[in-house]
Amino acid sequence: VGSDDVAALHGTLAVVADVIIAGEPVLTDLDRRVGDGDLGTNLARGASAVLAASDLLLTQPDAACYLTAVSDIVRREVGGTSGALYSLLLLTIADWLQDLPGPPGVTDWAAAVAAGVARVQLVGGAGPGDSTMVDALHPAAQALVHGDGDAVARAGEAARAARAGAESTASLTPSLGRSSYLGDRAVGIPDPGAVAIALQFEALAAALAA
Ligand code: ADP
Ligand code: MG
Ligand code: MG
Repeated sequence: VGSDDVAALHGTLAVVADVIIAGEPVLTDLDRRVGDGDLGTNLARGASAVLAASDLLLTQPDAACYLTAVSDIVRREVGGTSGALYSLLLLTIADWLQDLPGPPGVTDWAAAVAAGVARVQLVGGAGPGDSTMVDALHPAAQALVHGDGDAVARAGEAARAARAGAESTASLTPSLGRSSYLGDRAVGIPDPGAVAIALQFEALAAALAA
């Protein structure tokens, strides 16, 4: 992997960051209804910090170092449950890519993301159906792994799977995280963390297709 790949990766992540920042009001509103209302600002702070660190990030020698640096920024800047779990997700993806003998291809990226999602499930203790961001992350990772197309096709499938998974949380009774305190009163409202993941995979797909 050369610096061109890191530049392309950063360009893609910058599109995702812009979408998180634009989505702040929507995510804030959802987390006000089922949580403590900080998800939008938490994620937007992290996205802004990643954009502000562009110079440092662009000096990273490869994708694994790049994602490790992003994970550090997220751990410092993003509070709450999301900060810990996003940071873990990014670090696990980085570790997976680090062990490859050469530059990552599309199947390597898919496997790395799946490993990251598995780690989030293990550490956070949520599985599909618990009405958390795992309900969007898990189907998205499955679409990446089981797709047989190129990166653009798989990212499109992952975005659709993430959105469907996020929408499915509206009919679930949350069993983990703050929204579980509401019990059945959270039914009808999608999980904010899952909606945030859907937004990000949609941004990723759009950036790769552009
Ligand atoms: P906090 O409750 O600390 O304010 P955030 O607002 O940062 O957390 O994030 C809330 C989101 O975190 C939820 O919408 C949900 O998607 C996700 N979440 C909460 N608990 C877990 C968990 N145990 N595993 C995975 N995701 C979780
Ligand atoms: Mg919150
Ligand atoms: Mg909070």
